[in-house]
This record gives sequence, C-alpha cells and structure tokens, in this order.
Amino acid sequence: MVHKADGTSELAGRRLFAVYATASLLPIVALGAVLSWLLGVQADRNGLIEARHQAGIAAVAMSPLLATADLHDLTPVQRLILGRTADFAAAQSQVLRVSVYSPDGHRVFQSDEPAMKHSSTESDEVSDEVKRALRGEVLAQLSHMDADAGGGGPRVVEVYQPVRATPASGPVGVVELYLPYEPIAAHAAEDRRTITRVLVGGLAALWLVLIAISISVTRRLRRQVRATTYLAAHDPLTSLPNRMSFRQQAACDLAESPSGTAVAVMDLDRFREVNDALGHRNGDELLEKLAVRLRAAVRPDDTVARLGGNEFGLVIRDVACPAEAEETLQRLRAVVSEGIVVGGLPLTVEASVGYALHPADSPDAHSPDTDALLRFADIAMSTAKRRRLGLARYDEADNPHDGTALTLMGELQRAVADDELVLHYQPKVHISTGRVEAVEALVRWQHPERGLLFPDAFIPAAEQTELMELLTTWVIGRSLDDLGRIDPSGTMRVAVNVSARSLARPDFAATLLALLAGHEVAPDRIVLEMTETALLIDPERVADALGELSRAGVRISIDDFGAGQTSLGYLATLPVDEVKIDKSFVLDMALNPRNAAIVRSVVELAHSLGFTTTAEGVETADALSDLRSMGCDAAQGYLLSRPVSLARLPSSLGEAARLAAIPVPR
Ligand code: C2E
Ligand code: CA
Ligand code: CA
Repeated sequence: MVHKADGTSELAGRRLFAVYATASLLPIVALGAVLSWLLGVQADRNGLIEARHQAGIAAVAMSPLLATADLHDLTPVQRLILGRTADFAAAQSQVLRVSVYSPDGHRVFQSDEPAMKHSSTESDEVSDEVKRALRGEVLAQLSHMDADAGGGGPRVVEVYQPVRATPASGPVGVVELYLPYEPIAAHAAEDRRTITRVLVGGLAALWLVLIAISISVTRRLRRQVRATTYLAAHDPLTSLPNRMSFRQQAACDLAESPSGTAVAVMDLDRFREVNDALGHRNGDELLEKLAVRLRAAVRPDDTVARLGGNEFGLVIRDVACPAEAEETLQRLRAVVSEGIVVGGLPLTVEASVGYALHPADSPDAHSPDTDALLRFADIAMSTAKRRRLGLARYDEADNPHDGTALTLMGELQRAVADDELVLHYQPKVHISTGRVEAVEALVRWQHPERGLLFPDAFIPAAEQTELMELLTTWVIGRSLDDLGRIDPSGTMRVAVNVSARSLARPDFAATLLALLAGHEVAPDRIVLEMTETALLIDPERVADALGELSRAGVRISIDDFGAGQTSLGYLATLPVDEVKIDKSFVLDMALNPRNAAIVRSVVELAHSLGFTTTAEGVETADALSDLRSMGCDAAQGYLLSRPVSLARLPSSLGEAARLAAIPVPR
C-alpha cells in the first residue's frame, strides 16, 4: 500500500517536472526570438553602414572632379570623366549607378545615361533625400532600382553623399550611388545565421544546465522527503512502524481482512529495571533485538510496531477464533522470553499481552474502529499485567469508560454529598504479637438502585476525573472521624489508599496535614497506601510531598508491591516505611513455589533496606504460617477478617488478633 502511494507520487512528480521543463523553455524561446530579431535588425543596419562606407569611398574618388566643376552645367569632357570614374567605381565596388545633382537639387548626370543634360525647365521635383544631402547629411536607405519610376528592379542601397569644394565648405552638389544590396544582404544573412546559431546553442545550453540543476535538486529533495516520510512513520530505534503508522496499518488490515483480526498490545514486564540496572543503551539494545525477533516470528502480512517505550503493537490477520489468536500471541510471548544476551549479560524478559478481536469485541461489528480496538487491547494488557495472566483478551468489565462507569461518574458527586459512600475496615495484624496495628479503610458505595458497589466498579473511572480528589478527601476525613471511635486513645493507625491523581496535586501534603490538624489526630496515626505507579507519575513532586509528610510523622506504605515496575532500590531513595506485598504473590504461595520464593526475597530485601513488610491476601492458615517463618511483619486478609463496617469492626478486631496470635501447627 505504501509502495503504491510512492509510485503515484513519483508519476505525479515526473508530470510536474515535464510541465516545469516546458514552462521554463517558453521564456527562453521568447528571449531567443527577441534577441534574434534585434540582432537581425542590427545586421541590416550594419549592412547600410557598410554600404554608406563604400559609397563614401566612391564619392571621394569623384570629388576632385566634382569639386571643381560647375554642377549646373557639366562639360562633355567632365561627363566623360565622370562616366569613366563611375564605370571604374562600378567595377571596383560594384556600384550600379552614379547620379550627380546640382546645388539646386536637379539631376545633372546619371552614369547609365551619360548623354542626359540638365535642363532648368525639368519639372521633376527635388527629392527629400537630395534636399537633406544638400544640407550636409549622408543618407543610406534600402530601395529598388528605379523605384522612383515605379520600377521593381533589384534591391539596392541608395546612398546620398554631399559634394563639397573644400572639406570645410558647404555642399555644392550631391552624389547619389546605387549599390547592389545582394552582397550586403548575403553578408547580413550570414551574420544573422551565425548569431542565431550562437544564440540557439547558448540558450539551449543554458536551458540544459537549468534542467540539470533542477533534476539534481529535485532528486535530492525527493530523497529527503522519502527519508522524512520514513522517519515520520517509523521508530528510529527498531525501524518498526511507529504508533501513527501502526494505527493506519491496523485500519487497513481491519478493513481488508475478511475473517477475524486481532489487535494486540505487548508490554515488556520490568523493562524499567533492565534500563535502571543496565543503562539505557542496553535497554535500547534489548528493544532492538526483541523487535527483530517479533518481526521474524509473525507472518509477512501481520504487523508489528513499536508504540513507544517498552510497548509493541501487533495486528494478526485472519484469526478465526480467540484460541487461534491466543496460540499466536502465546508463541510471541515465548519468543520474547527466550534467553537474550544484552551488553554481554544473559537476560530473560517477559511480556504481558492484551488483545481485542474484530469483529467479536468491536463496538460495531460492521465497521471496525481501530482506536477503540487499540484502547481495548491496552485495557486487556493492563489486566494481564495486573493479574499476572501473561495474556488477556479484552473484557468489557475491565473498561473504566464503559457505559455503566460513565453513568456512575455522573452520580458520584451527588453520592459524596448525600453520604452514600461508606468505609469498611480491614485489620492489619502484627504476625508475631497478634496486635492489630492498623485498619485499612476501603470505600464502598451504597448505591440506591444498584446496591453495594465495590471500589473496582467506580474507582478506576473516578481516577480519570477530578472526582477522585473529592473522594480521597472524603475518605481521609471520614476515616479520621472513625479512628476516634475505633481507638480513641490508643495507637492504632488507619491506612487510606491514595490514588496517583491525588498524590500528584501540588497541595496534597498541605491538605492532608490540615485535615489531621482539624481532626486533632497525630500525623503518625495515618498510613498512606500508594502504588508504585502513583510514585512514577511525577517522581520529583511526589518525592517532595512524601518528604514533607514523612517529616511530619505520616507513614508511607507501598501498596501492591511487585505488581509494578519499580525496584526496592528505587524505593530506598524515598521516605518509605512499609512495603505491602501484592496479594497475587501471597494468594497461591502454597501452590506456586516461585511466588513463595518471591515473597521470601522481598521480605528479606525490604528488611535489609529498613522497610517493614505486610502481606495482603492472606486467606489460609498455611499462608500465615509460611509468612511467619519468612519473618514477614504483618498480615491482612480474609483469614483474619474481611473488610467490615464500622459497627462490626470491634468484634472483627478481637477475632483477627486471636487468629494471628495462634501459631498454626503444620
Ligand atoms: P487494595 O488497596 O489492594 O485493597 C485490598 C483489596 O483486597 C480490598 O478490595 C480487599 O477487600 C481485598 N482483600 C483483602 N483481603 C483479601 C484476601 O484475603 N483475599 C482477596 N482475594 N482479597 C482480599 P476492595 O475493597 O474491593 O478494594 C479494591 C481496591 O480498591 C483496593 O485495593 C484499592 O486499590 C482500591 N480502593 C479501595 N478503597 C479506596 C479508596 O478509598 N481510595 C482509593 N484511592 N482506592 C481505594
Ligand atoms: Ca491498599
Ligand atoms: Ca493491595
């Protein structure tokens, strides 16, 4: 498709060039014509000048005789001599006729009529030329032999030359000479031809040089345009199509592929760590190598693109069913996770892939919406990552922007004002002592029509809007109120979840400290739970805010640790107090030794960096005893207590403490 467009533009370019070449030829031809006409006129003029010169020589030859003669009345001898001289001049310089005029302007001699006499009764009028010559002018003009008599004889140059007695005196008569025009014309024509040849040659050369320059400039420009077009459509690192051309290509594929098409987004897990640990150059090398692998692993008419960062986009054509798409995508994940050597170090990288199928997942099965499918694939990828699935297909329920969520957002503001939100609390228990050190506030929405809504139903959508700040402020305020009831004089803390959006607000720290002061709660009785992702939105500002809060005594906890991209090393640069190990590792520790190993090493590493550790998602006694043996500090989970309403919390607290304090025999 891209090639076709190239061909068309090349053809258009050629056509344009032909038009330009023709157009530039026009002024050159016009210039040539004007120049050649001007030079032709000049050649004629030169002919006349030459003729006048020749006539001058002939007249000079006759002047001794004429100067002394009485031109009113020439003697026969004088006529004879004049005739001879004229003959002589005729022989020498091809003078056709010599005439002599008297001072009163009448012809007194004509070489081809030697017998002609001057008669004062002659009625012929004095011609203009003769009059002017008698005033001292030398005239030369083109004419025909016997033009005065109406004769159409051969073309001649007619020259009138005044005759003077002495060089300083006035004219005493006029000599008229007829010179044959043919040799002069031939000479002029020869000049004209030479001039034309030089002109045509010169202008043609000029034109060719112009054309050559424009061809070379055009070629260079075209090459540049091609390079720019390529850069605009490709990722310079991997040479894969970039996001923009991926969208175009995906749109074409979706329109062309008769059966199903899968649009997928692949995100490399823990790529940031590779970058941090090995440097950006090695990170780039990794991306380059993986790009080559992916390109080689798909069919030629499938598309692989780099969407930016550590994200690749894929279009797999002709997939009849989800199983077929998943087979291909799993194969691609396997290709990525094969060992790879980067910067001399052997690495293994894993990828999370989300995909959406057209037409099955399309909002409108009949007209594919590329952007929607790409968004869906992205949502699926986030799900795959969050739930550690590796590969996930788009599920409407994961979409924070679907219709239900949007309606809910319309109602959320009112819900906060009408007190429809409620907080449930879940105890967090110190494993070795069984002491409940904190309760985590988890928001729910008692919806008048839909019943009790869990945060998954409205928090992700709220996070996209400013409502999230309203909600956070409400949760903090309410939990501080409740803390006074739960443990009025004690040391128990309340943990609240803070979204990325709230954390990134410049006035977050000030607002929180003001709320604490307003409720007369010591800052060290609140724990802020935030995810790794939230830390990365605006790292500098967040670091400042955390610094200020930590100095005031507020405790900082990293929620869902292990699910994101950060390393403990990075967290050590921040005033973090606690790491909460993501429940996905804890839930299946008994079945999955790999996860057990991860939990163990996170506990050890966190301790060595000075963090306390809490495991969430503790559902079984086995998990609790494993955590105890690993030295994990605190536990939270359904085993100890589900999140409960404020009213039910007191009994729940006692039960949790009791369960945690009893080491379960294995
Ligand atoms: P989270 O902060 O990771 O909260 C823990 C979630 O795990 C809670 O779900 C809790 O009910 C659930 N859980 C606790 N123990 C277990 C267990 O043993 N097994 C299993 N499978 N799950 C357990 P919940 O209440 O639905 O909250 C979901 C998420 O919603 C929370 O995850 C948190 O990210 C968010 N959230 C809840 N309340 C707030 C809030 O007030 N503000 C913000 N920003 N987010 C909130
Ligand atoms: Ca939490
Ligand atoms: Ca959590």
